[in-house]
Amino acid sequence: MTGTICASCGFPISGPIHDTENIGADGRTRHVCDRCWHNPALFFLPREIEIHGSYAEVRVDQWRKYLGVPAGQTTLFPVVPL
Ligand SMILES: [Zn+2]
Repeated sequence: MTGTICASCGFPISGPIHDTENIGADGRTRHVCDRCWHNPALFFLPREIEIHGSYAEVRVDQWRKYLGVPAGQTTLFPVVPL
């Protein structure tokens, strides 16, 4: 094991390695461990796209959380501001 370090918690990654959208100063994609990847308090765009299907849906979901509009509830105007 070459000792990949998790970009989130800083511990060596022993299980599955997940790519984040973040590029470090060295030009390489940052990796996080499985535990951080599945932590709902942390935001990783590739994981959110996996969950919601597309970047547009991720934006809608983030704005719904911010505005307190439940998922599925229709609104008079688009949830994502133009
Ligand atoms: Zn971690």
